[in-house]
Amino acid sequence: MMASMSAHATPPRPSSPLDIVHLDAVLTDEEKAIRDTVRRVCDDVVEPNIVQWYESGDLPARELAREFGALGLLGMHLEGYGCAGMSAVDYGLACVELEASDSGIRSLVSVQGSLAMFAIWRFGTEEHKQEWLPRMAAGEAIGCFGLTEPDHGSDPSSMRTRARRDGTDWVLTGRKMWITNGSIADVAVVWANAGEENGGIRGFVVPTSTPGFSAPKISHKLSLRASVTSELVLDEVRLPAEAILPEVTGLKGPLSCLSEARYGILWGALGAARSSLETARRYTTERTQFGKPLAAFQLTQAKLAHMSTELQLGLLLALHLGRLKDSVGLRPEQVSVGKYNNVTKSIEICRTSRTLLGANGISGEFPIMRHANNLESVLTYEGTAEMHALVIGQALTGVQAFR
Ligand code: FAD
Repeated sequence: MMASMSAHATPPRPSSPLDIVHLDAVLTDEEKAIRDTVRRVCDDVVEPNIVQWYESGDLPARELAREFGALGLLGMHLEGYGCAGMSAVDYGLACVELEASDSGIRSLVSVQGSLAMFAIWRFGTEEHKQEWLPRMAAGEAIGCFGLTEPDHGSDPSSMRTRARRDGTDWVLTGRKMWITNGSIADVAVVWANAGEENGGIRGFVVPTSTPGFSAPKISHKLSLRASVTSELVLDEVRLPAEAILPEVTGLKGPLSCLSEARYGILWGALGAARSSLETARRYTTERTQFGKPLAAFQLTQAKLAHMSTELQLGLLLALHLGRLKDSVGLRPEQVSVGKYNNVTKSIEICRTSRTLLGANGISGEFPIMRHANNLESVLTYEGTAEMHALVIGQALTGVQAFR
């Protein structure tokens, strides 16, 4: 007892004031190296351009995908087929750094790796994997994931998109809405109702050059502007028999892909929060009102203390869930706890940070309002906060309250 007390007489000081509980001390050197590499690339490639991409509502997604592919970030937690085969914690740490730049950048990587690539990797044929995964991992081919429809978001089981048999072919008809990467994708994983006799909801690998497929871009977004969002129109899209994902039937197919993506989000959102808090912390130490720095007022410190504590708690939860995923795996309700808590807390942190900058808080010169606006999308996609509350409620009570 005495020996261990003296061995830690002067605990090490974390390298950043925001890492107040010293999370760095429990990360491996490899994890820190991955995190730092992603940060460096974001600083070099994203940060100098993100304000312009956000304001113009466009981004060079193909160039970015190649850049991230070269780093091994696309499908980084998948094994084989050119994927990096890293851990869930590595992936989570990368998501934090990507989203500290912009949620749109993290979305590009999440949709590619956790939705489109994961669906093919987990449920596709060997031919699907050979054809798409190496190119997707390299960022040479972009994927999207079409589940949501104009009239069916939180309740995808009621989807109207249909897949019907015509000889050995499949013919897809319907519309998908709010699809990230849709207009720039080379391949779309589309979920359609194939009828009870064919297993109900099924996934299809759809090359976007197939006649009848189009993906008009959605404009006028006030959130996630540095991200391509599209409608998918499927007008009698004829596919060969082998286009179907054979290894899953029913809603558990898309839901298990969403669980993967939600896991990335529960880390990523904290990146947006960290960037906002760091901006507010620095700003309040530099700006003077009533003859002293804003940071010297107790109300300011209370806000900073509250935000920092929430950020650290969120990171601890993310790290715990990541270690659990790497060891025994995660249950859907555990992912829901992470997404529900970390996204709602991150929005709160962005909004409170915004107040600390006063009028400057609404300016695009600072990243906070951009992060706050982005997190409105993050709160909604991959299951709204309300849906995750219902998943948690069901796990707690055994009672399903969705319908
Ligand atoms: P609705 O389902 O209509 O919900 C509206 C409100 O009602 C919400 O607050 C919701 O929580 C609440 N509500 C609904 N049902 C209940 C209930 N039973 N109890 C209590 N409250 C309820 N989808 C994809 O398939 N692929 C993508 O790549 C993709 N990318 C996206 C990118 C962006 C920028 C955005 C904004 C969305 C994206 N989505 C994508 C769609 C997203 O997943 C859906 O928007 C989301 O599932 C919610 O569906 P909805 O918008 O139809 O809302």
